[in-house]
Amino acid sequence: MTDAGRHPNITLLTYSEVEEVSGYVGNFTVRIRKKARSVNEDLCTGCGLCQEKCPRKVLDFGFEAGMGKRKAVYFAFSQSIPNLPVIDREACLYFTKGRCRLCEKVCPTGAIDYTQQDEIIEVEVGAIVLATGFAMWDPRQLPQYSYGLSPNIITGLQFERLTSSNGPTGGEILTAEGKKPERVAFIHCVGSRDHNAHLYCSRICCMYSLKQAHQVRDKTGAEVYDFYMDMRAFGKGYEEFYERVQEEGVTFIRGRGAEVEVLPDGKLRVKGDDANLGRMVAADVDMVVLASAVEPQPDADRVAALFGVGRTSDGWFAESHPKLRPVETATAGIFLAGACQGPRDVPDTVAHAGAAALEVVRLFNQGEVTISPTVAVVNQDMCVGCGECILSCPYNAIARNAQGKAEVNPALCHGCGTCAATCPSDAITALHFTDEEIVAQIDGLLAMLA
Ligand SMILES: Cc1cc2nc3c(=O)[nH]c(=O)nc-3n(C[C@H](O)[C@H](O)[C@H](O)COP(=O)(O)OP(=O)(O)OC[C@H]3O[C@@H](n4cnc5c(N)ncnc54)[C@H](O)[C@@H]3O)c2cc1C
Repeated sequence: MTDAGRHPNITLLTYSEVEEVSGYVGNFTVRIRKKARSVNEDLCTGCGLCQEKCPRKVLDFGFEAGMGKRKAVYFAFSQSIPNLPVIDREACLYFTKGRCRLCEKVCPTGAIDYTQQDEIIEVEVGAIVLATGFAMWDPRQLPQYSYGLSPNIITGLQFERLTSSNGPTGGEILTAEGKKPERVAFIHCVGSRDHNAHLYCSRICCMYSLKQAHQVRDKTGAEVYDFYMDMRAFGKGYEEFYERVQEEGVTFIRGRGAEVEVLPDGKLRVKGDDANLGRMVAADVDMVVLASAVEPQPDADRVAALFGVGRTSDGWFAESHPKLRPVETATAGIFLAGACQGPRDVPDTVAHAGAAALEVVRLFNQGEVTISPTVAVVNQDMCVGCGECILSCPYNAIARNAQGKAEVNPALCHGCGTCAATCPSDAITALHFTDEEIVAQIDGLLAMLA
């Protein structure tokens, strides 16, 4: 990320969101909203004095995953690139109550700017790589895990903050009461491989749960119980790591952790089915870590529509072909990288992103694109400009022309025929698949059979 921030050919637009995409492969125009930080980027040196002196603290459901607090003026991540803070206008005392302005007073370079407005930027690009990643599934949706009923029932992501040196406990694994846990349980597949949540395997949870079990053993010496259905240690060196964690003394219980009960003394009882013993087992522990599923971003629908990208039945962005074209999408010039296409760990994400980058280079080196001759055409005399086809086109390939009638962009059209089927005036045909041609083919076949 530091390298990307320094590279002369890379412009980082952080705290920004794409609002509109038009054009086609080699020729996209992207409209971006650069949100107001209330901090002048040219003047700010990232010294952090504003964050240090800000009197307002709020619980951080972003980077801290609800495990710690942040200030109203804050750096969104530790080691943010670029190293710039942002003012949370909903939490800031000046924006909400008209008083304070302490950050402005202490800033040595006069970078605080309460009047800053969102900026709209338009860029011309030849290709686009979507890398919007994943979101965490909320375990409250399966109440048997009692998530939210005790501060010592946490998700794997929250555990990551506990072990981080810049996290709320400075990297110490502590219960909400500030004590070292003596017994910790990990439950795999919470919300994954489950007919009541997500049917797919989230892929990353087995390995990060093993990593976290190892960290508990290493840092606290606590007894660790690991409830799993089956261990998916699929990557290079992963099986060996699983063996190592077994040797470290973690107790593995083969069977889904079925229920977490909060006992009157605050302890947690985990009950599960032990498939090897063929009976239910229970463990009383001080902390439970739920390996909750990962899922598509909540705005995946909007983003997919914006970029003309399809989604699979479970909501991830769809690649053109799972084996042969794993980074391309149905829209030429738009590629996928990382976990927005499906759950994957860092090594797989890096490999996928590298492949997407190379596809872009290949496209640019070619200098030309081949498109299918089977595209839709609009009979301008018959089109009444109702716009039904524009709404129905899954590839954003149709727009109104100067006469208000529909016009197909052949570089975007995939010849799927949806518009032709939708058009109430019968004004659209798919080239080489006109009704007459199809009827002639059927007649030809019938003639052969006669
Ligand atoms: C608890 C936990 C522990 C893990 N531990 C490990 C581990 O030890 N080793 C390992 O290999 N993997 C681990 N992983 C997996 C790892 O986090 C993923 O492989 C990796 O984050 C995927 O990277 P990504 O860039 O595809 O997605 P993300 O990391 O999700 O990044 C996507 C980025 O896109 C941004 N974004 C989303 N939508 C938009 C939008 N509309 N506009 C602009 N920006 C947007 C997001 O804010 C985010 O910054 C772990 C995962 C979890 C949940």
